[in-house]
Amino acid sequence: MSTNGLPDEIPIPIKGITYQQIKVEKIPMSESYIQRDSSLIPTASRTVSLNPCRTCMPLGAMFATLGVHRGLPFVQGAQGCTTYVRYTFCRIYKEPAIIANASFHEDASVFGGQKNFVTGIRNLVVRYKPDLIGVVTTCSSEIIGDDMTSFIKMAKKKIAKEIGEEEMEKTKIVLINTPSFAGSHVVGYDRASKAFLSTLAKEKTEPNNKINIIPGMMSPADIKEIKHLLEVMGVDNIVLFDTSDVFNTPLRPPMELPYYPKGGTKVEEIEDMANSMATFALSPHEGGAGAKFMEKKFGMQAIIGPFPMGVKNTDAFLKTVSQITGKPVPDELLDERGLLIDYMADTLNYTMQKKVAIFGDPDIVVGATRFACELGMEPVAVLSGTPSKIFNMQIEEIAKEYEVSPKIFNGSDLFEFEEYLKTIKLDIIFGNSKGVDIARELEVPLVRIGLMVWDRVGYQKRPVVGYRGGEFLLTEIVNSILDYRFPDDRTQQL
Ligand code: SF4
Repeated sequence: MSTNGLPDEIPIPIKGITYQQIKVEKIPMSESYIQRDSSLIPTASRTVSLNPCRTCMPLGAMFATLGVHRGLPFVQGAQGCTTYVRYTFCRIYKEPAIIANASFHEDASVFGGQKNFVTGIRNLVVRYKPDLIGVVTTCSSEIIGDDMTSFIKMAKKKIAKEIGEEEMEKTKIVLINTPSFAGSHVVGYDRASKAFLSTLAKEKTEPNNKINIIPGMMSPADIKEIKHLLEVMGVDNIVLFDTSDVFNTPLRPPMELPYYPKGGTKVEEIEDMANSMATFALSPHEGGAGAKFMEKKFGMQAIIGPFPMGVKNTDAFLKTVSQITGKPVPDELLDERGLLIDYMADTLNYTMQKKVAIFGDPDIVVGATRFACELGMEPVAVLSGTPSKIFNMQIEEIAKEYEVSPKIFNGSDLFEFEEYLKTIKLDIIFGNSKGVDIARELEVPLVRIGLMVWDRVGYQKRPVVGYRGGEFLLTEIVNSILDYRFPDDRTQQL
């Protein structure tokens, strides 16, 4: 017993697990290394998550809303549900992210968030004059049972009385239900894609000869790369949630207040999406729901995946675009493809047979697994932090094609992943900044990919998708291998 009356080892009141048992020791082979109880290593046998590889559902919906021109997320919940997300976006992109919040305290948690919502939306419309507000619910508002559809009607009526119907109509409001206990940020973005399209897309009028792209939570550089591919092909497009000029903006004072970045998908473009030829959801788990909605509601072809990373997946994307639009893949893109293949051949001696572990959100992990195989690497473990019904099947398909057999972790945490990696031979990890400690412990390089990269500058400015993205990523991979395999004092041996 300690002097404050608490037992020295505080038991966690669930299934008898103690802090001592789940303590994460950072130096695995040190004298104080604690051998973990093997029965607690699988995520499924624990009621706590250790080093989770996902974050909360509203984050995905906020990301999506910020990808709309003059769009503002309004979070119906406590301030923490917003602060963490704003901090995360600023940490990743080094750009401001304006997100409003209903500021739930005890009273809202007990009596419901109607008052906070109506007042908050009124302040936003009157002071910020946004083109769109994405109303993002949270665990608390969903558990209280806030009737958000009625709240939105009430708020609109009240504001219209103050500023007039016409002014009120200038701000569209989209409701995105994101109870975080029911899924991750990946699901939040996916739900947002359906919510925006079902609220805003208007009935077909006349063809616009465009294609719709729902990229998923790609970096600004990735979205620009997709637009580059389409521009070279001469294909007009509407990118839903175009964050490319939102999370990467020029600093050009003086800036008007309220400040909105110049980028983002315009509301009129979303309204026009039913007139397009097809909808491509490049990340099946992040936007697939929106593409399926467009197919069901407007009879429009939905092309779901693959994530356009590496040669084969980029080929597949361009081939389908070509089939749908009738436009051939031009020489310029064939040259880009040729340059990537040439680069792969030039560096094969470094990448061949390297054992790689890959983790992150499901779509980028599947894309990176295929690219790793194209480079002659051997994926030995892959992890999707978000549980997925198709992840295993997608990985197994690649594994069969390239005769590799990675261990698949679906919906697991990085603690379980790390414990497995300690038992096998490994040369390199592909993943986000959450893997830094794991890579250090295992003494292998970590090549950053995915959304949560905050410990590198410039990552979001270079694509990993498309042929040119493949070149950038391959540069990172090979240089990381060189740094570890051939330190400075041995470079003359190259
Ligand atoms: S998990 Fe729930 S309570 Fe926590 S930040 Fe996310 S929405 Fe808010």
